[in-house]
Amino acid sequence: YRDAQAAEARYRGLFEGTRDGIMLFEHGGMIVAANPALRAMSGFDLPRLLGMHALDLTADDIETAEAQFAALQATGEWRGESDLRCADGSTLPVEAWVAALDLPTGRTFVASMRDVSERRAFEQTQEIFLSTVAHDLKNPLAAVRGQAQLLQRRLDKGTAMTPEKLRSSIDGIDGGAQRMGLMIDDLVDVFRMRGNQPLALHRQPVDLVDLVRRLVDEADRVNERHHVRAVSAEPTLVGSWDEPRLERVIANLLGNAIKYSPDGGDITISLRREAQHDGSWAVVVVEDHGVGIPPADLPFVFERFRRAGNARGFGGSGIGLAGARLIVEAHGGTVGAESIEGGGSTFTVRLPLANT
Ligand code: ADP
Repeated sequence: YRDAQAAEARYRGLFEGTRDGIMLFEHGGMIVAANPALRAMSGFDLPRLLGMHALDLTADDIETAEAQFAALQATGEWRGESDLRCADGSTLPVEAWVAALDLPTGRTFVASMRDVSERRAFEQTQEIFLSTVAHDLKNPLAAVRGQAQLLQRRLDKGTAMTPEKLRSSIDGIDGGAQRMGLMIDDLVDVFRMRGNQPLALHRQPVDLVDLVRRLVDEADRVNERHHVRAVSAEPTLVGSWDEPRLERVIANLLGNAIKYSPDGGDITISLRREAQHDGSWAVVVVEDHGVGIPPADLPFVFERFRRAGNARGFGGSGIGLAGARLIVEAHGGTVGAESIEGGGSTFTVRLPLANT
């Protein structure tokens, strides 16, 4: 008798302690037991559940559910995804396994259900992400093809082209290819980090002032509505950094400052050296007067795929800042943002300098 009691306690512990929702129902469908996890998932208390039919718990189309139930009665098992109908009227996506259990009292079914809402949400985010990335890559690709076709048509017609026109077409092609390259590199870094692989930095002496000036001059040249300038308190700021990656960080911040200032305006990148007790730092501040970031979104803009509510009208996939933060932190630095919605944004990058 003691052994039987111990076994009963063990199985009860399993039934009550597991995080999956479990219920038993009779051959006809009447629920005869439900564990605490199922009660928590569905929001129905035990007395309510015990009066219900198993099909009352599904939010699936009733004809499909009835057909599945008939198949279960015939074959003794069913497995699939379903939507659990909850007490508050909401539904919860679950993965369910149902199997027949032949007890001395007759045939019973045991159903176990796992909440898959997180997985579904992740799949949805990935779907949105992939479609925006595809869309984003197509924009510069269209620019590249457009320019290439223009050159081709002129060549076919034998139209003479001034060196300026030729240069502007080539610049267009190069710019588009560069933007695509930046996005692809961001993607690779961001996904590599997800697999917990640290970024392998290729450090070499880099002058940040020179790097910023190059990007700023280029941005100022191609953006007519924006006035982009660099202001540096130092003639040089040399550190041991991964140059192509830092270039991406600055290009991302600068690109965002331009993109999120649709009416044009001043964009300033300022550079300075800061001496702290823990050594000296290179500080880069990118400031724009664009649409800004709503306070509720500001804490999340460095997270993957996160975009502010007011960014919908602008192209983007929400990976640029996540990539920028990865790179800066891999260098031992920090990146932060301040913003006034409707008034502009300021992004600050701090990088440890070799003690030069
Ligand atoms: P996206 O591809 O969406 O621009 P990012 O990762 O570069 O992705 O930026 C994440 C979000 O941060 C953007 O969607 C936008 O909401 C906000 N953001 C970034 N930079 C700025 C800026 N300079 N001004 C306003 N909002 C910005």
